[in-house]
Amino acid sequence: MQRLEDLTGQDIRKSIIFKRSFAHNDFKTDYHAFKGNAYGLANTLLQTAFLKPKIKSKKVKNLYYTGQLTAPGPGVPPSLISGQVVADLIVNCER
Ligand SMILES: Cc1cc2nc3c(=O)[nH]c(=O)nc-3n(C[C@H](O)[C@H](O)[C@H](O)COP(=O)(O)OP(=O)(O)OC[C@H]3O[C@@H](n4cnc5c(N)ncnc54)[C@H](O)[C@@H]3O)c2cc1C
Repeated sequence: MQRLEDLTGQDIRKSIIFKRSFAHNDFKTDYHAFKGNAYGLANTLLQTAFLKPKIKSKKVKNLYYTGQLTAPGPGVPPSLISGQVVADLIVNCER
């Protein structure tokens, strides 16, 4: 707030009548997000490209994963694409 006030030259704080933060603990309780993550896996080398979690479970037969924690990765378009990839895999390859 200090930075914003310095930048704008306005006394903003005294005009605030309600303030609420929504952060990682809220992501845990409201969305069951693992460790409160909001953007999926960190872009570390071991979680990148073909090293991302697989869409097909190695342990449970006929269990597939979609969404930002698997391939192709975080963001709404990739999450939707991963659903299409899994659907295509089940319909066309696994029968
Ligand atoms: C602040 C913010 C801004 C973003 N902005 C953008 C953007 O501009 N563009 C973009 O492309 N992406 C953006 N993203 C990322 C994008 O929202 C995510 O990558 C995407 O929504 C992930 O989709 P998903 O279906 O994998 O997971 P989610 O959308 O997280 O869906 C998972 C669902 O599973 C539910 N769930 C969890 N555990 C259980 C359980 N045990 N039982 C039943 N249900 C459960 C959750 O409640 C949730 O509804 C943003 C994310 C955040 C947090």
